[in-house]
Amino acid sequence: MSMTRRSFIRNLCMSSGSVVLTACGSEGASPTSPSSTWRPAYARLEDEGRFQERIDQAYELFEGCQLCPRTCGVNRQRGLTGFCNATAKVRVFSHNPHFGEELPLVGQRGSGTIFFAHCNLRCVFCQNWPIAHEGRGRDITDDQLAGIMLDLQRIGCHNINVVTPTHVMPNILNATRKALHKGLRLPIVYNTGGYERVEMIRLLDGVVDIYLPDLKYMDGDEADQYTVRGANDYPERAKESILEMHRQVGDLVTNDRGIALRGLMVRHLVMPNRIAGTREFVRWVAENLSKNTYVNIMAQYRVEHMAFNYPPIARAITPGEFIEAIGWAEQAGLTNLDKRSLAQRDVFLRRVG
Ligand code: SF4
Repeated sequence: MSMTRRSFIRNLCMSSGSVVLTACGSEGASPTSPSSTWRPAYARLEDEGRFQERIDQAYELFEGCQLCPRTCGVNRQRGLTGFCNATAKVRVFSHNPHFGEELPLVGQRGSGTIFFAHCNLRCVFCQNWPIAHEGRGRDITDDQLAGIMLDLQRIGCHNINVVTPTHVMPNILNATRKALHKGLRLPIVYNTGGYERVEMIRLLDGVVDIYLPDLKYMDGDEADQYTVRGANDYPERAKESILEMHRQVGDLVTNDRGIALRGLMVRHLVMPNRIAGTREFVRWVAENLSKNTYVNIMAQYRVEHMAFNYPPIARAITPGEFIEAIGWAEQAGLTNLDKRSLAQRDVFLRRVG
C-alpha cells in the first residue's frame, strides 16, 4: 500500500486532470512538514498516556453502536449493521491530495483527504451518493488506514482530512495512534456532516486539531424531509456538537503561510427556496460561536441523486439566493468568510448586473 511521493504524484498527474496541475507545479517544504516544530494534539495526548484509553472507549461503542444520534445499538464487532450499513471494519473509497477544499486546508500541497464509505445522515441530494449511500469502497484494516495517513504525509499534504468520519471514529483514532508511532505529525481534520452526538465529540478532545462540520439545516422539519429516514433532531445535535468543537479548539489558527493548524471551520450549503435556513445559520454562528469563525457559505448545490423527486430542491440556486446569503452573513457581522464564497458572490453580482 505504501508508495513514494514521486510515484504517487506521477500516478495522480496521469489520472486526474486540472486538479493535478496545481499539485504538480508546487515545490518547497510543507508548512506542516515533519521538519516543523508544530505538534498535533494527539501527540500530546499520547505523551500524557491517555490516547490508548480513548481508543478503547471508542471501540467499546461498536458493541452496541451509539456512535451517532441514531443509536442503533447493534453489535458492529459481530458484523451487524445499523442505519449507516457499516460494520466495525473501515471502508475507504479513495485517498488523495484534494485541492477543492478550503484554502487554509489546501495550501500548496493539498489536503490529505480520506473518503470513507457509508454515512449516518444520508441527505436525499447527496453529491457523493455512490460512496455515502451505496457504500462503495474497499474494506481495510486500521493498520492499512494508518499507512494511508503516512502516505498522505509523505507526499506533502498539510493535514489528514477524514471525510464522513462519524461511523468509523474508533478506527480513525486507532489508526492515528498507529501512524503517530511511525512518524505522523499532521493535524487531523474532522470533516463531518454535523449529525453527531456531543458525547462522541468529547471523546475527540485532544485528538482532533481541526473540526470541519457542516451545519446543513436550522429547522428540524427540513432536516427530516431531506434525509433518508429523517433526522428531525439534526439542528439540535449539530449545534450542540459544534459548540463543543469550538470549546475544544477555538477559532481557526493558521501558520505564517496561511495553512490551518487548529480551530473550527464551519460549512453551510445554500439551498433553493431558503431550505437550509441560511439567515438563522449566520445569526447562530455570530451569537453562539464567534464573529471571527471561519465560515464557508457554499454555492455548489446541484440536483443530485433523489433530489429530482423533491420539487422545492429540484433546481439549482439562483444568483440572487447566494447574494442574499452572503449579505446576511455580513449583516450578522461575520468577519472570516471563505474567500472563494466572496469571489463567487462577486461573480453572481456581475452576472445580475
Ligand atoms: S454509527 Fe451507524 S450503526 Fe452506529 S448508531 Fe450511527 S447509524 Fe447506527
